[in-house]
Formats: sequence, structure tokens, C-alpha cells
Amino acid sequence: MANNEELFKQIISHAKEYGFIFPSSEIYDGLSAVYDYGEYGVELKNNIKQYWWKAMVQYHENIVGIDSAIFMHPTIWKASGHVDAFNDPLIDNKDSKKRYRADVLIEDHIQKIEDKINKEVEKAKKRFENFDEDLYRKTNQRVVEYQQKIDDITARYADLMNRTDLAGLKALIEELGIVCPISGTKNWTDVRQFNLMFATQMGSVAEGADTIYLRPETAQGIFVNFLNVYKTGRMKIPFGIAQIGKAFRNEIVARQFIFRMREFEQMEMQFFVRPGEELKWFDYWKQTRIKWHQDLGIAPENYRFHDHEKLAHYANAATDIEFKFPFGFKELEGIHSRTDFDLSQHEKYSGKKLRFFDPETNESYVPYVIETSIGVDRMFLAVFSHAYTEEKLEDGSTRVVLRLPAKLAPIKAAVLPLVKKDGLPEKAREVMDMLKPYMMCQYDEKDAIGRRYRRQDAIGTPYCITIDNQTMENNTVTIRERDSMEQKRVPIKELLSDIVF
Ligand code: ATP
Repeated sequence: MANNEELFKQIISHAKEYGFIFPSSEIYDGLSAVYDYGEYGVELKNNIKQYWWKAMVQYHENIVGIDSAIFMHPTIWKASGHVDAFNDPLIDNKDSKKRYRADVLIEDHIQKIEDKINKEVEKAKKRFENFDEDLYRKTNQRVVEYQQKIDDITARYADLMNRTDLAGLKALIEELGIVCPISGTKNWTDVRQFNLMFATQMGSVAEGADTIYLRPETAQGIFVNFLNVYKTGRMKIPFGIAQIGKAFRNEIVARQFIFRMREFEQMEMQFFVRPGEELKWFDYWKQTRIKWHQDLGIAPENYRFHDHEKLAHYANAATDIEFKFPFGFKELEGIHSRTDFDLSQHEKYSGKKLRFFDPETNESYVPYVIETSIGVDRMFLAVFSHAYTEEKLEDGSTRVVLRLPAKLAPIKAAVLPLVKKDGLPEKAREVMDMLKPYMMCQYDEKDAIGRRYRRQDAIGTPYCITIDNQTMENNTVTIRERDSMEQKRVPIKELLSDIVF
């Protein structure tokens, strides 16, 4: 079995080879951290968005959707704090001329120590089993020492980040002896703040034109429409506003394929509640969102919560849903209790009252907000990488199969005439026409049937329907299920109830 790095490379090349994801502008050698979705990628992505929209908007009577513009009034980003504080600390290596995030360099260093701990724990287990008491004690001692080291670095690092102490971050990098992975040297520049927002000009003449930003999150489009939706939707607290849309961040180090992109898509929902009730709703959304993930049938051990100990100044609770990506557990979704920070800031900067009149208490107040925020592309990577499987078959051959949840699969059914004669293609076309209005199907008559099955496995099609000579006699077809590869024969008229997604 390939190691995780190797496996991740295979997943990336599979995504390209089978029309899921292409590097942007590839014929011009690509554009860093920007990707295009191909013919199957766009289907999978749309299905993810639909699965989210249904769960959030269709199933919750008190949540409605909007679609706000990417360009917004520049003062919005002043009010939200993005102009002043949406920064990453960057550092350059003078020898390799490569740029890094200072915080990521330190986090990677901590991760390396954690890897060492895991290795020592494995060693200790073996020594314990071998009654090697002395060595067992020594190994355990090393684990304790490493853990103390991690605790010390983590505490100092969190403090420096909280105080935005850039000189302190550089000093810590030097003290830990962190080297540039390219040049191998410790020849670092000072740490500087780097704002992640892309700026552009609005208006026909550059001079005097206002600087506007490509939105770095979709959430602010919801906050500034709070009053509109509250009135036109006749909403009563608690209620939510959901939105799916593009966001842009000039990430310093964009890596890990579509995990960290410069142009990406978010699915965000802001849930407005009565002040004082926010923690109850925070808990509700934690449970509701993890269930949404697990309902896809991906085993629960692939998810975990990471509750934030250090909170942003405006938040009173925050957690990440982390997913086990091929490169380890990483944030997939954020759930934040944002108090009344955003609406209050917009009240202050716009001079407009953004309040809810509560008929039950006869009071007007700025609602508190619970936010759920997930990246479409990160979700894509989670399901795609989890689905990618290389299987050894009994005959010794290997099949690559994408075990995608059926409801997310780009193509639900492939219709395959066994041969290109005897009226089979025409019959297959009839079956296609019957299924087409209900699901994405694909017709394929090229190559031997086994190869066609493999092609469908590789793009994650849950069902292959084969039209053979018996079909011509009694109007039955075979359905082959992707994961078990089991086949059964069913009458054409029952096909629709046999295909479940
Ligand atoms: P990270 O710590 O990974 O940078 P974040 O905490 O900045 O993420 P949020 O601002 O909370 O992320 O954004 C919400 C969600 O948007 C994230 O959970 C993630 O799924 C997605 N997301 C954020 N930045 C990116 C990016 N550069 N590329 C792809 N998805 C992203």
C-alpha cells in the first residue's frame, strides 16, 4: 500500500485524469493555487452544494438563502475588521527566496515533535509486550519530555500570536532552529504582516477610484442583508440566512491541492438568536453539522471536533470539524458563536439600526449569531480522497474505484449495450431516455464490457445497467452495483425503484 504522500499524489492525478479537477490555465503552465473543475468535478461539486442547501434551507423552515454580490462597499471590510486584521505573518528565507507563513513553520515544527511522540509510543508498546522494563521506562520518559516541549512551545506561540508580536515569532523560529525546507538554512528575514484580501479598483479611471476588495468570505454579504431578509422574509428569531458563493484569499502558502486555494467557494449560514441563548444554539449546530457529515456514510472516526481554547475577541465559543485528510486531521468546517459583533459593527459604520423587534419580550436588540462555515472545495477533497480506493481483485488485477456516496456521485447510472449490434444500442437509448429526466446518466458502447465497468468505477458511478440479448427477449437488464460488483437482473420498468441515491 502506498504511503500517505504517495496516495495523495495518486488522488491528485486521478482527479485530473478522470476530468474532476484541472490546474487553472494549464496550457500557460498553471496559476498557483487556482483550479478548474472538469466535467465530473462540476457534477460532484454541484451535488455537494445541493446536499448542503437541502439540509440547511429546504429542511429548516426558519432558514432562507440569498446570493449576494462578490463586490461590496469597501467600508464593510473596515467594519468587519478585515482591512486591519485579516493578516497572516509572513517570513522569507533569504537564500531560497521562498516565502512562508511564520505560524505554519512553527505549527509544522510542533507536528514533527508530535510525530516523534507517536513513534516513541509505538516503541514503548513493543517494549512493554517484550517485558523490556528498563527500556520501556526510558521510552516513556522521552514521551513526557517531548510533550513538555510541545506544551511550552504551544503556550509561547499562542501568546505571541495573540499579541501579534512579530519580532517574538521570528525569535521563536530561530530558537527552535527551524530551517527552510528548500535551502536548509536559517537565514530568515523579519516577520511582516500580510493582508490576505485581493484589492482592485472600481471605476473607469484608476486615480480617484475607490479600492474595493474581492470578498474573503461570504458571511458579510449575509450580515449587510440582515434587515432586508428579516423584513421581506417576515422572519422571527431564531432564524438563519444561508449562502453559497466564491471567496478569495491571497494565501501566502497555498498548498495541499484544493485544500488551500486562492479562489474557492464557501457554504455559510448565519443563525440569528436571542442574546443569552447563543450557547444552546451553538451546541445545536455542532450536533446538526456533524450529523450532516456522517449521514453521508463516511465512518465517524474520520471526523473530530477541535474546540478552540483561544477565542477571537468577538467569539464566545468556536469549534472546527476536522476531517482525516490523507495528510492528517485538518479543518473542514468552522462553527462559531460570534456574539453581536458583526451586526453591531455594521450599525456603527453604516449608521443604520440592525435590530430585531421581539414581540414576545417587547424589546429591540441586536441578535447574537451562530455561524457555520464550510469550504465546498475542502468538502470535495474530503469525499474524493476518502472515496479513492485501490482494490486487489481475486484474479490478481487491481481496480481503482471511487466509493463516493451515491447521492454525490457525478453520474448515477451508466447504460451499456453489451454489443454494438442486434438492436442493443437502440434498446439502451430507450433506457437512457427513461432515466435521463431523473438522474445524470451516461451512455457508453465503446470497448469490452469489463473496461467500461472499470471506467465507471473510476468516476464513482454507483450503477451500471447492461443491455444484453435477454433484454431483447424479456425486457430485463442487469444492474451491477459499484462497491460489491454484484449483479442482478431486473425488469426495465422497475429500474427507477432499484436505483437508490
Ligand atoms: P484555515 O485555518 O484552514 O486557513 P480558516 O479558519 O481561515 O481556515 P474560515 O475563515 O473559518 O477558515 O473559513 C471557513 C471555511 O472555509 C474553512 O473551514 C474551509 O473549509 C474554507 N476555507 C477557508 N480558506 C480556504 C482556502 N484558502 N481554500 C479552500 N477553502 C478554504
